[in-house]
Amino acid sequence: MAKRVTAESAAPLVPPKPTLPRLREAAAGCKACDLWERGTQTVFGAGSRPARAMFVGEQPGNEEDLAGQPFVGPAGRLLDKALAEAGIDRGQTYVTNVVKHFKWEPRGKRRIHAKPNAQEIRACRPWLDAEIAVVKPDVIVCLGATAAQSVLGAAFRVSQRRGEVVPSPLAPKVIATVHPSSILRAPDDESRRLETRRFVDDLKKVAKVLGPA
Ligand code: SF4
Repeated sequence: MAKRVTAESAAPLVPPKPTLPRLREAAAGCKACDLWERGTQTVFGAGSRPARAMFVGEQPGNEEDLAGQPFVGPAGRLLDKALAEAGIDRGQTYVTNVVKHFKWEPRGKRRIHAKPNAQEIRACRPWLDAEIAVVKPDVIVCLGATAAQSVLGAAFRVSQRRGEVVPSPLAPKVIATVHPSSILRAPDDESRRLETRRFVDDLKKVAKVLGPA
């Protein structure tokens, strides 16, 4: 069992010679923001290393919190289907989130997603930076505004620049698109179908940037 350490940033917890197993173990004991009290467990990233593409979302959801694995709930299933449709091998990807604990508020018996604030995002950022350094992705794909603004800066607007290849010191290429959970919240079947199509089109741009495996 990893020891818990309190700080305002996760930086002091990042091991000096990080590997994914070492990072995962250290992050399991993170108390760098208050979210550790609300979530069931730290949900660290998962996937291949090195990975050609790293997908970054906002935070784990209800199912991910319980399973301890990222992108295993409804949004993850939509992502898996869209990746297959875009021709991206899931085995060559790594999936993670900007914030590693589920932030939620009670509504009756349900736990409803709550947006992480700037302090929580800042506190958790060293885990993402360490994952990027170890995984060394060719492309980082930001899923939704929280991930895009965290990686590309607060002024970045997914609505205006989705699917665009953006230069970044973090990876050779960064592309932002919507979070699959936003597609699941579409008001009707037709808009969900259209939004899924646009999402797959963005992932096809990622596939094109990656080139042949
Ligand atoms: S959300 Fe991130 S910084 Fe906050 S306690 Fe969890 S792992 Fe640590």
